[in-house]
Amino acid sequence: MVEADRVSKSFGSNKVLKSISLTVKRGEVMCLVGPSGSGKSTFLRCINHLESVDAGRLRVDGELVGYREKGHILHELKPREAALQRRDIGMVFQRFNLFPHMTALENIIEAPLRVKRMPKAKAIERGMDLLAQVGLADKADSYPAHLSGGQQQRVAIARALAMDPKLMLFDEPTSALDPELVGEVLDVMKQLAKEGMTMIVVTHEMGFAREVADSLVFMDGGVVVESGDPREVLANPKHERTKSFLSKVL
Ligand code: ATP
Ligand code: MG
Repeated sequence: MVEADRVSKSFGSNKVLKSISLTVKRGEVMCLVGPSGSGKSTFLRCINHLESVDAGRLRVDGELVGYREKGHILHELKPREAALQRRDIGMVFQRFNLFPHMTALENIIEAPLRVKRMPKAKAIERGMDLLAQVGLADKADSYPAHLSGGQQQRVAIARALAMDPKLMLFDEPTSALDPELVGEVLDVMKQLAKEGMTMIVVTHEMGFAREVADSLVFMDGGVVVESGDPREVLANPKHERTKSFLSKVL
């Protein structure tokens, strides 16, 4: 579903991604971990068209992200074409970025109504199903300010799911939450994984990685230092940098 082949990205002279190669198969969950500044968010942002890669090939579901290749020449996609690719990818950020002036349900149905031009009754029906799925059927009419951080984050997940993405990206979805609210968000993500969603999750929740992920990738300084079965990497990290990082988060 996601294939990165020697993906590189710089901001000015700062090389943030240095030849990243990795694969996430359909239905798999990959956890991406690493110290601050290692390039995790930038990598997710490249997948989601928020940044463009400088070199290498990044594919989602077989399609180059943002480009079409003819011969060996890359042509940038037209904004409409790029928007179509982007529609299929859901992203959840650290800070719940719900629209504050909309209820939970309105937040969820906004994109299906506006982007997919879904009939309102259908969008509401689907929105209510999604709210039930994240355990918030009774909060449809609540505004974000009246929801806890964990509830807001679950609405944010439901909102991303409303566009029927084939891939979900999570960028530290629980790091801004009070500890007692982390579990409810991870449980929703766990359920999603069980249902076969392809996911890339940047997280420091190693319990989640061990239990749910099919692969764990440790990044540092813009390179993949180590990757593999999460249980294996967590139990027997091979590189000093992985060991030192894990000793801080475990
Ligand atoms: P954290 O754990 O703190 O979220 P991260 O692994 O997600 O870190 P990134 O946010 O990807 O790291 O940042 C990697 C590097 O890229 C950092 O040095 C950062 O300053 C730089 N960077 C990120 N976005 C930009 C930008 N838009 N312009 C310039 N530099 C940027
Ligand atoms: Mg980040």
